[in-house]
Amino acid sequence: MVSRVIPVDSFDLVIFGGTGDLARRKILPGLFRRFCAGQMPPEAQIVGAARSEMDDSGYREFVAEAIHEFAGPLSEDAAQVEGFLERVCYVAIDAKGEAGWEELKSKVREDLVHAFYFSVAPSLFGDIAERLHLHGLAGDESRIVVEKPFGKDLDSARELNATLAKHFDEHQIYRIDHYLGKETVQNLMAVRFGNVLFEPLWNAQYVDHIQITVAETVGVGGRGSYYDASGAMRDMVQNHLMQLLCLIAMEPPAKFEPDAVRDEKLKVIRALEPVEPYHIVRGQYDKSKDAPGYRQDVENPRSFTESFLALKLHISNWRWAGTPFYLRTGKKLKARTSEIVVVFKDAPHSIFGADAGRHRNVLAIRLQPNEGMTLDVTIKEPGPGGMRLVDVPLDMTFADALGPEAEQATEAYERLIMDVIRGNQTLFMRGDEVEAAWAWTDPIIAGWTARSDVPKPYDQGGSGPEDSLMLMHRDGRRWRELKG
Ligand code: NAP
Repeated sequence: MVSRVIPVDSFDLVIFGGTGDLARRKILPGLFRRFCAGQMPPEAQIVGAARSEMDDSGYREFVAEAIHEFAGPLSEDAAQVEGFLERVCYVAIDAKGEAGWEELKSKVREDLVHAFYFSVAPSLFGDIAERLHLHGLAGDESRIVVEKPFGKDLDSARELNATLAKHFDEHQIYRIDHYLGKETVQNLMAVRFGNVLFEPLWNAQYVDHIQITVAETVGVGGRGSYYDASGAMRDMVQNHLMQLLCLIAMEPPAKFEPDAVRDEKLKVIRALEPVEPYHIVRGQYDKSKDAPGYRQDVENPRSFTESFLALKLHISNWRWAGTPFYLRTGKKLKARTSEIVVVFKDAPHSIFGADAGRHRNVLAIRLQPNEGMTLDVTIKEPGPGGMRLVDVPLDMTFADALGPEAEQATEAYERLIMDVIRGNQTLFMRGDEVEAAWAWTDPIIAGWTARSDVPKPYDQGGSGPEDSLMLMHRDGRRWRELKG
């Protein structure tokens, strides 16, 4: 089956921070891939905007390098690269001053969709929104795309929402969480709400527990000072893990429409119970024989910031009362993997006797690497010698059924940018969702501060602190092994 490409309307996309790391690694290569896929109309224009002085040809060289480095095999097609670069131009602009704004205005064409991607530090979001308004670029056809982090607590998120709301209506604001752009995340909704098989079992009666893991092998890299002020809770849990939790736990929306989906997600966040301190494990990666530890990486020998977090939480509603959700994320772990695991309860009675062992259906939804899903089902072990049971994964990756095109997954950023141009907000966070997530997160962080909570050291290349394993063991459960 060949995946269908539906061209979007013509647009001007302005990337504030067009010379930055995110633009270079994700946004520009993603747009190039959409161009190659035939999704971009001939009149589409991409305007890089940052303070660095350069002309259009200088920026095209920058974009060409980004494509060659990050766009994969498609970048070898010189004609495609040339065709894409013809749509690219540059404006030197200062978000905090007047330089460049009139030039930008002259480049943005009337009667087209205008998207402004704020790929800059959050401290500049307000300045850019204000200047877009002052220069008449905040009209009804304008959309703004806002990168994470969206605030650092409830107060700052509210303030940011209020600042953006001065000049843009909620339907024009696209708060990006690239996890929502992943193919498997959308497949999760298709599997849940497009089949009769799963939904009747999707509740506390049949589900024993759910695990959500986002594990990284890397440390804080060059983001030391940012990360040390955030930690795993603010950097990963409040946004990415919370979004995954919402999609796995929400009620079926009446329609697959932006506000219907986001209303249901919001209800999940609002139904989260406060988390008991003994249901939280914080960790910090220790130094090893040949690698510095977290405190050396962030150059803060007294840092109490967590690079690992595991927690057990409950959702107070009819569907999930009594079913625990275990969330875990961390850096410098043994594998890079993101997955959601739904562990169903044991069959109520085993007709095969005690020797048959314990067998459970497990649905594993893998976001990276190798996006896909497997469902463990129990079958008879082949061969003579009586009835022995074995769990076998039923691969629901769909590549076999849908053909090789299905494997060429569209990257999250490119899918989300095309959604912005189409005006579809389903996969973007609404302002009240972000605020609700902070309202749940803030008291937990405040508790750590009040107790001067010290994260537990853990070995690099492992599975996190021992206490995280105990969090599960105490409940007679265990984490699924981290596998890349
Ligand atoms: P970055 O590499 O530091 O780039 C910042 C960009 O902003 C540069 O293009 C810079 O260019 C421009 N800039 C700085 N001050 C400016 C001003 N006064 N006026 C206009 N442009 C200005 O940052 P980044 O890593 O690309 O991150 C951008 C945003 O994405 C941040 O909010 C970050 O939190 C978020 N984000 C990044 C990643 C990632 O992987 N990089 C992932 C998730 C979220 P000039 O210096 O030339 O002006």
